[in-house]
Amino acid sequence: MSPATLDSRLDGVVGGRTASALEKAFEMRTVRDLLWHLPRRYSNRGELTPLLGLPIGEHVTVLAQVLDVRERRMQRRNGKLLEVRITDGIGTLQLTFFNQAWRANDLRAGARGIFAGKVSEYRGQLQLQHPDYELFDRNDETVGGETIGELQKEELDQAAARAFAERPVPIYPATARLPSWSIQKAVELALDALDAVEDPLPREIRDAEDVIPLAQALERVHRPERDDEWRRARDSLRFREAFELQLALLDRRRQLGLAAGTPRPRVDGGLLDAFDAGLPFELTAGQREAAAAISAELAEPHPMHRLLQGEVGSGKTVVALRAMLQVAEAPVAGPAGDGGGQSALLAPTEVLAAQHFRSITEALRAESASTEALRAESASTEALRAEPASTEHSADDAPGHDLLDRVRPVLLTSKMPVAERRRALLEIASGSARIVVGTHALLSEGVSFYDLGLIVVDEQHRFGVEQREALRLKGAEPHVLAMTATPIPRTVALTAFGDLETSVIRELPAGRRGIETFAVPVLEKPAWAERAWRRATEEVAAGRQVYVVCPAIADNTREEGDEDPAVGSESGEPGESGAAAARPLASVEQTLAELRARPDYAGVGVGALTGAMRPEEKAAVMRAFAAGELDVLVATTVIEVGVNVPNASTMIVRDADRFGISQLHQLRGRVGRGEHPGLCLLLTTAEPGTVARERIEAVAATSDGFELAERDLELRREGDILGTAQSGGRSTLRLLRVAEHGELIEHAREVAAALLDRDPDLEGAPGLAEMLRREAEQRRLDNLAKS
Ligand code: ADP
Ligand code: MG
Repeated sequence: MSPATLDSRLDGVVGGRTASALEKAFEMRTVRDLLWHLPRRYSNRGELTPLLGLPIGEHVTVLAQVLDVRERRMQRRNGKLLEVRITDGIGTLQLTFFNQAWRANDLRAGARGIFAGKVSEYRGQLQLQHPDYELFDRNDETVGGETIGELQKEELDQAAARAFAERPVPIYPATARLPSWSIQKAVELALDALDAVEDPLPREIRDAEDVIPLAQALERVHRPERDDEWRRARDSLRFREAFELQLALLDRRRQLGLAAGTPRPRVDGGLLDAFDAGLPFELTAGQREAAAAISAELAEPHPMHRLLQGEVGSGKTVVALRAMLQVAEAPVAGPAGDGGGQSALLAPTEVLAAQHFRSITEALRAESASTEALRAESASTEALRAEPASTEHSADDAPGHDLLDRVRPVLLTSKMPVAERRRALLEIASGSARIVVGTHALLSEGVSFYDLGLIVVDEQHRFGVEQREALRLKGAEPHVLAMTATPIPRTVALTAFGDLETSVIRELPAGRRGIETFAVPVLEKPAWAERAWRRATEEVAAGRQVYVVCPAIADNTREEGDEDPAVGSESGEPGESGAAAARPLASVEQTLAELRARPDYAGVGVGALTGAMRPEEKAAVMRAFAAGELDVLVATTVIEVGVNVPNASTMIVRDADRFGISQLHQLRGRVGRGEHPGLCLLLTTAEPGTVARERIEAVAATSDGFELAERDLELRREGDILGTAQSGGRSTLRLLRVAEHGELIEHAREVAAALLDRDPDLEGAPGLAEMLRREAEQRRLDNLAKS
């Protein structure tokens, strides 16, 4: 066989059948893909895998010893069942085989091996039906890669025997079709075939960071002789992963900064000034700082790529709207006449898009009135200078709606009636709509912009990079402003958004009354729960409004997902399986019935909002609630993002432990937005001391989103271990866990930045330059596929 490289295709190295199985299961195509499929853990031949608490329903791989074997005739059908119990010395797991009595020849009491299959339960006994297995056969055992022949056997002294027992057995993320040992065999073929591997990491960085050469790391992570070998190898590979990721992000940021974009400089005395003059409040320091950074970047001949972080209610939307106005009136030469550019605001849900559209329209309408006033004022003082960019709108525009008419915001969602949608598309294509607000519908093929100058992505974490990218391709290097109300711990920001500049608005506008949050353990303190419902009626009696949030829509439904499965929920925490799943979750339907049945809610207007409703229904309910026609809104998390009803003062969350920390924090941001202090009551049946309960208590303990984000990361770490330990899933990050490796990530970023400073084009590190080229090429291909 000719020597392989990391880029060799797998079929030539491991054979066509295995290669296609690997591709199907894990999308592996090259030797590199396979060798980066790292063992999830290592077992020792001398140590057995604990069998207690294996997760039912999941595919597991365990190292165990056969305890006993028996065969019995089936009672209901013809045939024989072979029952083999395996043990770790404490627990047992039963293997069952139907009509495969011959297996008893291999599976003798005392035999050790690796067993893999899906865990099920039968009469209280955990079992694997028809598992795959590989026994450690005495005659087949190898030492140091050599088969033990008869002659060598005598030489096998105590030490070698111990080495054999100590040699770690890699356990790979596997699937039912492709068990761990098949992957191991493929990996060994690849390692044996591999020619000298060129190490992309420059020598001086390897030395400084105590990182072992790549070839050695790959060998030892897959074929370790002792535990310390794979540990060291894994640390080295982890550093490489962190370093390469940060290098790519920093390089991408530099490239983005170098790309040619269209400057959209601020125009004095125009729309933006009028808008500012009419704002009914002062911008906070954080808003001013972010706005200044954005304004300056928009004026640059390179596209902006900025992330704006700020708590719910910190006033990001105003900052974004100001940016859109700057773009709308920036003089760009072109056939459009006055040459202003367009902005697209991408929102994650229909409700939020509609609300953004409404509040933008209202803000512009309100400012239009003040523009009038401003113009009248300037005219009277003869200060009306000649404004070349605005001659055509000053004279003959309809009075009173100057801003609105010039900006012509439109809404585009996929659920709009056809005629309305067509009109919106036309205004977008002709360039007359300068601000376009929409959902994913904005990404679809039929949407083309006349001159897309700025993209604003609201609740950035709800979208993937690909979606940001898909919208970006609708313009010629447009400026990008991503916004998120979910505070992101620094290391996560570095990993997920390392190619973006960041602005943070830390304070809330003055005069906000803040939110008080309490955990209400309904099982321990049933009286508190009752008090919560009464408290809601008191708020209503005082003229204020209440949200009640439930995890499910109806009794027979599971937790509600997002409206659009492509968006996904940002927190994987809810739904810890096991006991909690047995009890039905509080649903909107049931809560509605309960409240309507209560005498003290007799005069209270109660409505419901869920993602299952039609958009018109949803919009009607939201309007009614916003108008104060409904007092209490029972809803799912459709209200999570951005909904703004300042008169809502209280929120009750049922089964609050079903939500993640950041989700709860988002949710409670819906109350306390007006002049009334907010109150948030988190009802839970989670037991004290559980992670679920800790999440609730963390949310109750602080309203500082950044502090919560760090806490979330800590708690989620346990979830990680529990949730993904046995699954064969694949993620882009192999060894890096942002929760655990924050320091490493920061350090790797420094090392990468220093290298790029020394050698921006990586002339001294051709391997790394090649890696970046490969990634850029991949991105280009992905983009091509999308456009
Ligand atoms: P975010 O999008 O960050 O959650 P919004 O931009 O929706 O916040 O702002 C929430 C509310 O606060 C809006 O009603 C907005 O008009 C108001 N607001 C924004 N900035 C200020 C400010 N500096 N002072 C007072 N109110 C403000
Ligand atoms: Mg917002």
